[in-house]
Amino acid sequence: TRELMRSMVGQEDVTLDGKRVHVYCNIGSPEDMASVLANDGQGIGLFRSEFLYLASQDYPTEEEQFRAYKEVAAAMNGKRVIIRTLDIGADKQVDYFHLHKEENPAMGLRAIRICLNRPEVFRTQLRALYRASAYGKIAIMFPMIASVWEVKECRRACQRVMDELTAEGIPFNPDTEIGIMIETPAAVFIADELAQLVDFFSVGTNDLTQYTLACDRQCNDLGKFFDPHHPALLRALKMTADAAHAAGIWIGICGELGADLSLLPTFLAMGIDELSVTPTAVLPLRAAIRKSIAKTCTLELLNS
Ligand code: PEP
Ligand code: MG
Repeated sequence: TRELMRSMVGQEDVTLDGKRVHVYCNIGSPEDMASVLANDGQGIGLFRSEFLYLASQDYPTEEEQFRAYKEVAAAMNGKRVIIRTLDIGADKQVDYFHLHKEENPAMGLRAIRICLNRPEVFRTQLRALYRASAYGKIAIMFPMIASVWEVKECRRACQRVMDELTAEGIPFNPDTEIGIMIETPAAVFIADELAQLVDFFSVGTNDLTQYTLACDRQCNDLGKFFDPHHPALLRALKMTADAAHAAGIWIGICGELGADLSLLPTFLAMGIDELSVTPTAVLPLRAAIRKSIAKTCTLELLNS
């Protein structure tokens, strides 16, 4: 099978009947790039930017962030690099943010909620991202979105940063794609409205499973109750995919479920456009895609 996987390097991610699925990688720091390149990842579908914040004793500067984003963008050589804005809180605590201790951190002040509450922290990261956009095909993605107003506020923050950079004569790509993670049930229910505001969706199935099934992703005792194959979750994915496609935008999956080969036929039946997985899962996924026939795939798993 090692031989078989090696033979997948350089092959296209298309089914036997010609449906293309972009196979991208999830990374947690620029150090993961070696593995992305070795496994022939066709883009970065989720760059978790938390590492910069977790690794330092104080807020990372614009320059530090810019260097990290630019490094990944340049290494991907024009292929898409989706960088997620800060997603701390909940399981990822950073002392210098001085966040209050919460009873239910998964439902507390985390991710985009922190960024919208702290415009200066958000602005610094957005400036670094836009500056890096001049050196590769960067896309910006916002985590934990639950409401339309949040996306509008994110877009306004992006516009302000672009205006600043323009005034300062600093290069950036004004057409940088903006997307959101779909990882709350609220976002699923209003996906039709959200799709009007962004260029793409990426489903975070880890959190979407947690919030849909009311099962803490950190709790090891839940066993089979934490079931990412639950029809409720698969129907949520289908609803989101339909809303995306009706609005003419693309949809990917960047949660762990994306690498679950037993669900590949279900994803193909929904028309999922991109799967972002850990680098070592790229070639097995490619092999499975290349053996599939999309038009014969069904949605039978959406019923119990
Ligand atoms: C997810 O929630 O599925 C996801 C991809 O993000 P994270 O695991 O970083 O919360
Ligand atoms: Mg998440």
